[in-house]
Amino acid sequence: MSHLLEVKNLEVNFKTYGGEVKAVRDVSFHVDKGEILAIVGESGSGKSVTVQSIMGLIPTPPGIIKGGSIHFKGQDLLKLSKREMRKIKGSKISMIFQDPMTSLNPTMRIGAQIEEGLILHQGLSKQAAKEKAIEMIKLVGIPNPAERYNQFPHEFSGGMRQRAMIAIALACSPELLIADEPTTALDVTIQAQVLELMKDLQNQLETSIILITHDLGVVAETAERVIVMYAGMMVESGTVTELFENPKHPYTWGLLESVPKVEDGEKQPLIPIEGSPPDLFSPPKGCPFAPRCKYAMEICLEEVPPGFEFNDGHVARCWLNDPRAPKAEDLIAAGR
Ligand code: SF4
Ligand code: MG
Repeated sequence: MSHLLEVKNLEVNFKTYGGEVKAVRDVSFHVDKGEILAIVGESGSGKSVTVQSIMGLIPTPPGIIKGGSIHFKGQDLLKLSKREMRKIKGSKISMIFQDPMTSLNPTMRIGAQIEEGLILHQGLSKQAAKEKAIEMIKLVGIPNPAERYNQFPHEFSGGMRQRAMIAIALACSPELLIADEPTTALDVTIQAQVLELMKDLQNQLETSIILITHDLGVVAETAERVIVMYAGMMVESGTVTELFENPKHPYTWGLLESVPKVEDGEKQPLIPIEGSPPDLFSPPKGCPFAPRCKYAMEICLEEVPPGFEFNDGHVARCWLNDPRAPKAEDLIAAGR
């Protein structure tokens, strides 16, 4: 079966005065119908650039899609005209952002913003679009839908605005929803509610979701599969179960350690990963994580690690998984 979305060997650079930044390097993954794929990584890891490439949102210049393909239902999105892309964006793929205020139109009533796509892309009459808009407001759990329909974004709370964004994004029943840190700006309780809502809707509507986050807690609660990105590269990917129970990359180990644990009822402090991500103007020759990795070996400085494969499509790009490599425990015992 072919995948709903298949990204292959994507390479994206940005031209700057300082030179070309390698924002995304050799990224390949797929999304199937009805599944939630999470992409995690620090800021600057290339996760947003990856999904912006899918949406045709990379400004060129300064952005340059250096290579690769992005097939959606068999069609390479990178080869479509702006007009063809707009059609797909309004109806088949939609996106929600971290800050709804930047994507909601402050001068337009919420109802009208939900109706826009329905009238434009689905050819609904004003009356039918209104009915659907009110239904969507109700579906995303906003109380008093008929009243809310006539209100402006500033009359909504942060959590309600994010719900309104979701209503707009889902109104045309897209097959793929891309959510870039959709709950980061919200407080924890509201965040949990919005995630729960997204999961519910995904279940009901069979929408596939790409969820970008820097929060592994969110990944564990929401996604089925996960990609870990670092310095523009995918360093590990697999099912959420595999990745949490059997992680194979030191960067993932670090991320998992940095998730605050609740032990004996007290929250343990966050353990940050030492050092900072590499300079993307001239990324290290070998493994991008080598400068921060306490297991780094000679080969790590010389060659980019290939993807080593494990159960259930689990892949990790780390030389420790080469059968010839010493075990991580032994490296530590040897005084690393
Ligand atoms: Fe560390 Fe080497 Fe693995 Fe990179 S390839 S994460 S430097 S052990
Ligand atoms: Mg981002």
